[in-house]
Amino acid sequence: PRKTFIAGNWKMNKTVDESVVLAKDVVAQVGDVSDVEVAICVPYTSLTEVARVIDGTSVKLGAQDVYWEESGAFTGKVSCEMLRSAGVEYVIVGHSEQRSYFGETDEAVNKKVHAVIGAGLHPIVCVGETLQEREDAVTDAVVARQVKAAYDNVSAADAKKTTIAYEPVWAIGTGKTATPEMAQEVHGTIRSLLADMYDQDTADSIVIQYGGSMKPANAKGLLEKPDIDGGLIGGAALNADTFRGVVLPE
Ligand code: 13P
Repeated sequence: PRKTFIAGNWKMNKTVDESVVLAKDVVAQVGDVSDVEVAICVPYTSLTEVARVIDGTSVKLGAQDVYWEESGAFTGKVSCEMLRSAGVEYVIVGHSEQRSYFGETDEAVNKKVHAVIGAGLHPIVCVGETLQEREDAVTDAVVARQVKAAYDNVSAADAKKTTIAYEPVWAIGTGKTATPEMAQEVHGTIRSLLADMYDQDTADSIVIQYGGSMKPANAKGLLEKPDIDGGLIGGAALNADTFRGVVLPE
C-alpha cells in the first residue's frame, strides 16, 4: 500500500525569517505525524534555515526546481548536489508555472528527473492540462505525453523513487478544484499508463498526488479515491493550520 504523501509548495513566498516562523508552526502542527509523509518545498534562500528547524522531526525538506548540470558556468542555477548538501530530499520538477512562464520543456523535465534521481533525491514530477486542453478533450493525451517524456530512459527501479503530481492548470490558485471523480479519472489513467510503461508492481508503488486548490474542506474527498495518494499544496500550505487540515483531514 502506498503511504499518503502531502507536500507543501510555498512557491515564491516567505523571506528567510518568515520561513523559519512558518516551518516552526508546521512542525508544531504535524511534526510528529508518521503515517503520512509530509514535506515542505521552500524557496532556495530558506532551505538551510528550514532544514535546521525541521531536523529531528518527521517533516522532510523539498526544493521547487533544480538544474540538471553538476556544476559550472550556469549563472542563476542550482544543482542537485547543492540541494542535497542543504538537506533536501524532494525536488519538484515540471511545475506548470515553470512550464508556462519559464519555458520548461518535456525534455528539460526528463533531464531534471535523471539528475535528481542520480543525486539520490526524489523528484515530484508535475503534469497537468490547461483549461483549453480540457475543453478540447485532450487531457489524457497531454498528461500521457508529459509522463512518457518525463520518464524517458528511467528504469522501473528508479521510477519507484519518484512521485507524480497531477495538477490541472485551471485548478491551480483559482479556487476551482477538480472534483474527486474528475481527478480520480486522470489518476487512474496515469496509473494504467505507468503499468504499460513498466509493470503493475511499479505502477502500484508510485504515489500520485493531486494539486490545485486542495484545502482542508476538499482533501478528504480527494484522498479517499483509490488512485489519489496525496497532495501538492500551494496556497493552503502557507498557513500551518490549513496545511494540517490537509495532512490530517477530518
Ligand atoms: P494551489 O494549491 O495554490 O492551487 O497550488 C497548487 C500548486 O500549484 C502546487 O504545486
